[in-house]
Amino acid sequence: MANLFDRVKSGLDKGLAAVSVKSQEMLEVTKIKSQIGNLNGQMSDLQQKLGETVYQMYLQDSFDQSGIQEQCESIKTLEAQIGEKEAELQVVRVKAAEAMGKRFCDSCKTEIEDGVKFCGNCGRKVDEV
Ligand SMILES: [Zn+2]
Repeated sequence: MANLFDRVKSGLDKGLAAVSVKSQEMLEVTKIKSQIGNLNGQMSDLQQKLGETVYQMYLQDSFDQSGIQEQCESIKTLEAQIGEKEAELQVVRVKAAEAMGKRFCDSCKTEIEDGVKFCGNCGRKVDEV
């Protein structure tokens, strides 16, 4: 039976680690995506309500910005929350990839090939590891 050293050398444990990182990543990505889906649903509801409110104003020929202000602000808040969740997704992906030994540009988060000193996307110098 191969000892631990041989297994690591043969890349067996490295492969196993990659599999568990991948499945952890999948779990978190799925969770965040369902949160984003939920927020998008709330967003659609609010936008529909806003549309109805604006149409009622049109029918009554009285546009009143203060009447729609609150709804617009709720939509803006949701938009910001969705943006945060999407940033979280990016962080999870980068962390998982880094755990598997990949490098990313500090600036634009593009994956950096081995042995490359500058980001292929934005040209930023990559720190030596
Ligand atoms: Zn870059």
